[in-house]
Order: sequence, then C-alpha cells, then structure tokens
Amino acid sequence: MSCIFCRIAAGEIPSQKLHEDELVFAIRDIRPQAPVHILVIPKVHIASLWELEDEALAGRLVSVAARLARQEKLEQGWRLIANTREHAGQEVPHLHLHVLGGKKLGRMLPG
Ligand code: AMP
Ligand code: ZN
Repeated sequence: MSCIFCRIAAGEIPSQKLHEDELVFAIRDIRPQAPVHILVIPKVHIASLWELEDEALAGRLVSVAARLARQEKLEQGWRLIANTREHAGQEVPHLHLHVLGGKKLGRMLPG
C-alpha cells in the first residue's frame, strides 16, 4: 500500500487524529498554510472529488469539516478547499478537504 493517506487511515503511519468515525478522519497538515490547517480524509481510497459518487460520504466530509472549524473557533471565517486533479495542483491522489483559517485569507488559495 503506497498511498500515504491510506497508510495513515490504516494506522501504518502514526498520526494524531482530531476526528475519526467509520467514514472519515481528520489530521493537521504537515505543511500548514494558515494557523489552522486541517485535512478531512475519507478512509476508503477515492482519488479526488472527480471520482466521488457516494453522497453520504460527501455529506460526512463537509459536516465534519464544519464541525472542526467550530471546534477550532474559526467564527471569523474559514475556507474549505478540495484541490482536484492536475490543474488544481493536487499533490496527494487520495481525496481530502482542506480546512483553513485563523487569519485573514487572500482572495484565492494560500500558497
Ligand atoms: P493537495 O495539494 O491538496 O493534494 O495537498 C496535499 C496536502 O497534504 C499538502 O498540504 C501536504 O502538506 C499534506 N500532507 C502530505 N503528507 C502529509 C502527511 N503525512 N500528514 C499530513 N499532511 C500531509
Ligand atoms: Zn489512498
């Protein structure tokens, strides 16, 4: 198994999970682009939003992202990003949502 997020999901690579349920988990990004930078990741390997057809999973990903934003006290605002495929610069080919906040973000993506 070479996919980094599959290996984290399986516990092969230790990580501090901020959230875990039967469908998704969340970890802090190792190269944070903002004071709060969390990744919400499905446990099953789905390459990107392009391949996502499971609406229950889609709903869970977004609602967990919103719950974590509240937990991190991002009441002044935050951003949800899903880099999808090459033109968006997706680096890890396992679907993940970025939760970014804790400072005033630029008009577009940080970084
Ligand atoms: P993307 O460009 O949307 O594919 O972003 C991938 C993100 O995953 C980047 O922000 C990386 O810093 C982050 N990342 C890669 N490996 C790890 C890891 N082992 N733990 C936490 N974050 C990671
Ligand atoms: Zn994977």
